[in-house]
Amino acid sequence: MAKIIVVGSSSIDLVVTSSKRPGAGETVLGESFKTVPGGKGANQAVAAARLGADVTMVGRVGDDHFGEAILNNFKFNHVSTDYVEPVTHMESGTAHIVLAEGDNSIVVIKAANNEVTPGYIEQSMDAFNGADMVMIQQEIPEDTVTHVSRVCQKLGIPLLLNPAPARSLDDEVIENAAYITPNEHEAVILFSDLSVSEAIRKYPNKLFVTEGSKGVRYFDGESEVLVPSYKVEAADTTGAGDTFNAAFAVALAEGRPIVESVRFANRAASLSVTKFGAQGGMPTRQEVEAQM
Ligand code: ADP
Repeated sequence: MAKIIVVGSSSIDLVVTSSKRPGAGETVLGESFKTVPGGKGANQAVAAARLGADVTMVGRVGDDHFGEAILNNFKFNHVSTDYVEPVTHMESGTAHIVLAEGDNSIVVIKAANNEVTPGYIEQSMDAFNGADMVMIQQEIPEDTVTHVSRVCQKLGIPLLLNPAPARSLDDEVIENAAYITPNEHEAVILFSDLSVSEAIRKYPNKLFVTEGSKGVRYFDGESEVLVPSYKVEAADTTGAGDTFNAAFAVALAEGRPIVESVRFANRAASLSVTKFGAQGGMPTRQEVEAQM
């Protein structure tokens, strides 16, 4: 069983649907409301656990009932919460989502996710013992990403960085990461002076650009490779990237070759888009293997 550590965000998404989007100063009556667990870190941890990895989350929640719901969701999905310490006098991370008029508007409150600091990583160092892979995203402070990249370099643990949401990356972080997985939009922000083709050539077997239903592009040292995705009836692509990253990390951590790992991740991500919700659609190991 591959041991994976996820350093990242967790939140509760508060989702309302409304036929009309309220304008400034306006009140409208909506149709439905639900709360669902989210946050890129939590999503990737849950996806990796469903795919059969031994997963430990390193993150923070608030001392509120959303924090309890986040912890219960991790436990339900067999993600270890030994290193998810509630922050006192602070709220859990939340995303406030309005689905209206065929589009969404979202307000994100980072709250406790801002407390995933370099100091908190130092306090959580035991979590990294014996890890086969560390996964990180960018919904936590920038200096924490840099710090974790140094920790992984020092301990010799491969780091998979999903640079989402996009922000410019230090050369040091790029150097320290074993795998970097932007989507096309993020790749443009990260490597603004390069085309996707030029960027992947600069970082062979390290930079993997996900291109939605088209698949994933990387450079294997000799030629450009496009690993096509699988054709599915897409119902909701939320969380496709999170499932892709988790599945890629699980396959690599198990020692599978890169191209085979990308194929496995494409299969898992394509299954995730056939169902609603980020975590709702994340497949189990058996479901992915039945389709390979
Ligand atoms: P993100 O969700 O981060 O924006 P992408 O849209 O590139 O990232 O999707 C990530 C991966 O999910 C893709 O590389 C692909 O494997 C899978 N995927 C996304 N959309 C589809 C789709 N419509 N059909 C099949 N696979 C998809």
